[in-house]
Amino acid sequence: MLQKSAKRWPQWIESQLVRRGIEDDRVLRAFEAVPREAFIPSRYRDRAYSDRPVNIGCRQTISQPFVVALSIQALELTGTEKVLDVGTGSGYQAVLLSHLAREVFSIEVHHKLFINAKLVVERCQRAPVYQRHGDGSLGWAAEAPFDAIVAGARAPHLPQSLADQLAVGGRMVIPIGGESAQGLFQFKKEADGILRKKMLTRVVFVPLVGKEGTGGVPD
Ligand code: SAH
Repeated sequence: MLQKSAKRWPQWIESQLVRRGIEDDRVLRAFEAVPREAFIPSRYRDRAYSDRPVNIGCRQTISQPFVVALSIQALELTGTEKVLDVGTGSGYQAVLLSHLAREVFSIEVHHKLFINAKLVVERCQRAPVYQRHGDGSLGWAAEAPFDAIVAGARAPHLPQSLADQLAVGGRMVIPIGGESAQGLFQFKKEADGILRKKMLTRVVFVPLVGKEGTGGVPD
């Protein structure tokens, strides 16, 4: 159930999120609580609250706030969930999730980004965030099943491992498609194990590399 309130939000949250239809109060409060600038390299700090993705090194980006909010809102978190975050990147999304769920497992394929994110995540997390370096297209089998799974990188098709690791009743949000045209999809696992699919919006994401992604992994 969405919770709405008449609260006044900081200007960037009002214009980028509320006016575009992000209405889950818990999600908006998490965006208010987590300092986005802490996750952005110092030379780009002035862009922290701009309405676009920002470079975080290793040719990767922290997604535009609206896309992060839309993804997280579609996970329909209530605070009790075990969540898998595929593609830690800066760690921003993992920390937002830690304000909305019981525990977060976040996996990053670039070693340098994994190391960079570790400190800031430890400093800003609310619920525990467990981080790992590895191929997240395969999920995190030892910790499955997850009540929610979110990927911050686009896959050519839904990775079977992620589908398998989603609990019955769970929600997954993942961008799927080719280089130029991708949809951000929400999947819900029904009682019979079937996934119900809904497209949220069109997006452009960096590729999900790895075995069940676009292939290859960085050195
Ligand atoms: N959610 C992140 C941004 C995601 S950018 C944030 O809040 O900053 C996508 C991230 O996915 C990049 O850091 C990229 O290195 C990572 N990635 C791509 N393929 C991956 C894979 N197979 N396993 C884990 N991480 C992957």
